[in-house]
Amino acid sequence: MNDSVKKRINDLIEIIERANREYYLEDNPTLTDQEYDRYMAELISLESRYPDLKREDSPTSHVGTKIQDKFNKVTHKISMLSLGNVFNEDEVKAFDERIRKEDEPKYVCELKIDGLAISLTYEKGVLVRGATRGDGVVGEDITENIRTIKSIPLVLDREIDIEVRGEVYLSKASFEKINKEREANGEPLFQNCRNAAAGSVRNLDANITKKRELDCLIYHLPNPLDYGIKTHYEALAFMKELGFNTNYKANRLVNNINEVLDYIKEWTEKRSSLPYDIDGIVIKVNDINMQNRLGFTAKVPKWATAYKFPAEEVVTRLIDIIFTVGRTGKITPNAVLEPVRVAGSTISRATLHNEDNVVDKDIRPGDYVVIRKAGDVIPEVVRSIKERRTGTELPFNMIAKCPICGTTIIRKEEESDYYCQNDNCPARKIENIIHFASRDAMNIDGMGEAVIEELYNEGYIKNITDIYEFNKYKEELIELDGYGKKKIDNLKTAIENSKNNSLEKLLFGLGIRNVGSKTAKILARRFKILDNLANASLEELTIIPDIGDIIAKSIVDYFNDDNNKQIINKLKALNVNMKYINTSNVEEKDDFKGKTFVLTGTLISITRDKASELIENLGGKVSSSVSSKTSVVVVGDNPGSKYEKARSLGITIWQEEEFLDKINN
Ligand code: NAD
Repeated sequence: MNDSVKKRINDLIEIIERANREYYLEDNPTLTDQEYDRYMAELISLESRYPDLKREDSPTSHVGTKIQDKFNKVTHKISMLSLGNVFNEDEVKAFDERIRKEDEPKYVCELKIDGLAISLTYEKGVLVRGATRGDGVVGEDITENIRTIKSIPLVLDREIDIEVRGEVYLSKASFEKINKEREANGEPLFQNCRNAAAGSVRNLDANITKKRELDCLIYHLPNPLDYGIKTHYEALAFMKELGFNTNYKANRLVNNINEVLDYIKEWTEKRSSLPYDIDGIVIKVNDINMQNRLGFTAKVPKWATAYKFPAEEVVTRLIDIIFTVGRTGKITPNAVLEPVRVAGSTISRATLHNEDNVVDKDIRPGDYVVIRKAGDVIPEVVRSIKERRTGTELPFNMIAKCPICGTTIIRKEEESDYYCQNDNCPARKIENIIHFASRDAMNIDGMGEAVIEELYNEGYIKNITDIYEFNKYKEELIELDGYGKKKIDNLKTAIENSKNNSLEKLLFGLGIRNVGSKTAKILARRFKILDNLANASLEELTIIPDIGDIIAKSIVDYFNDDNNKQIINKLKALNVNMKYINTSNVEEKDDFKGKTFVLTGTLISITRDKASELIENLGGKVSSSVSSKTSVVVVGDNPGSKYEKARSLGITIWQEEEFLDKINN
């Protein structure tokens, strides 16, 4: 038994050390962070169960990896440690409980910037050395490269001797730019912002580093007591005062663990709007004496930890490629996957979008693939890992016939999608009904995919109007497996309730081509009653901002179709509401009414979704791009090119504070 455990420990150490070299020295990892974390967790668990087998050189007790001779060496006066990790709410609370056994802490919450840790040394206020973390004890001298980073001051406002630490990182925009250039030059692409930043700062040619537009945020003063500073939060303020770029708008001093959890929740929602990548939240005890009492392990401080966001990208095996038919007849290839946890949920399907995507990326059944799921977005296959092929994987072939009704499928000119041509294809009909009952449309609780498919196949619901004839067949449902009285009553209530929905939900649910939920809202607000929209001409529609020629034509075509007219008349007869209901309880305001807004940069005190909702409730519209039709651009932290464009077009700009004032007025 011990021999097999020993072998596993040795194997794990070999895998982890190879990954460490690829990650820290070559800036080109072949494992994902989650795979790495899984191996590390297994090693930690084996070492705690078999302490006698723990090797002295185990990667569980050292930071990073030994550095090479590429750069001169720098010995850190105070070790540069890593951070412990927690992955969920319970673990955050357990971290707090461990600390509260000793003390009553306040915490500072910070964003965990996904870059490379650096140490900066100043003598008499002048930058004399920049170093990487290396193995925590000895780092690499990257002073020349550090000098090219604009946000790192070369000279401080005071002639002070000081060492500070922070993270060098690359914005998402610069990362895209670098990879585009590398692609054009036929160079291998960087996998993510972190690797690109590390590769850029650990480059032997400082001219290349300069071109990479690196940035830096400072978050640590190793010896605050030497400057009479007693808390971490004061240390952050002190470093800012000296001229360092601290993340002062996002850093927050909090009183207890519940406020830490609020911070985590808030930034989990807002992280995608940041101009740079973060991979978690760092939680630090504020009081420096308390930090010193808690101390360190060989690898991490006991007074801090990193909450890591659930992974958005993971690796798993693609078992098969299957095809689904959407309500427009669109055929989509989908990956059937070995189930895997990503972004907090287990998935076994991911979209492959269309034929071109699968062929261009050369994705094959049997491949190991990278899956991405960010927020509410549908999981997708990012790429296949060709190095892990066994040679038996066969190239992908597109199907020729609809997998449901067998009709020949056709690829439209200048489109990458194939469509089933049969209007009566059961798959299309079912998808239409599923869409109608879905949350953003009529929101009929209990009428999910499986129920609709069953009721369709049993012949009860053949189109959306049948839903509202529930009374006719509800008695018969009791005969079906899984339909008790309670379920039937609940369905009836949900169907009845949906009759009172505001117009925009119905409009979206009807499935008019090119009318998404946002457009449906604009139309409902504007026309108030469905008949007004049904009678609107192309000209009346196209003068509305955000309604282009294509959407306008789809709307007119939809309401001219006799079949659709019949559906609407039937829905009316079945008492489905056809009017817009303003439920926001908010009066529209002149500052917002009829105006088009664009949001850019990170809003600190409000999420983007909330800001958009407020604008819409107050009578405005939110658009994603700046044009001459934009009325106001709301600017948060680190705004991107939209801000520049707004300025060049002379569009009104509101900073976050002004925006909030206008809302509250
Ligand atoms: P870490 O990245 O999990 O956390 C410590 C680091 O966080 C610090 O060194 C610092 O650079 C950074 N940080 C960012 N913002 C900070 C802030 N506000 N305050 C303090 N620190 C902040 O630890 P690590 O030791 O650098 O790396 C281990 C992790 O790296 C692994 O969990 C894994 O995700 C990844 N890794 C991956 C591979 C791979 O092969 N894919 C290999 C090695 C490591």
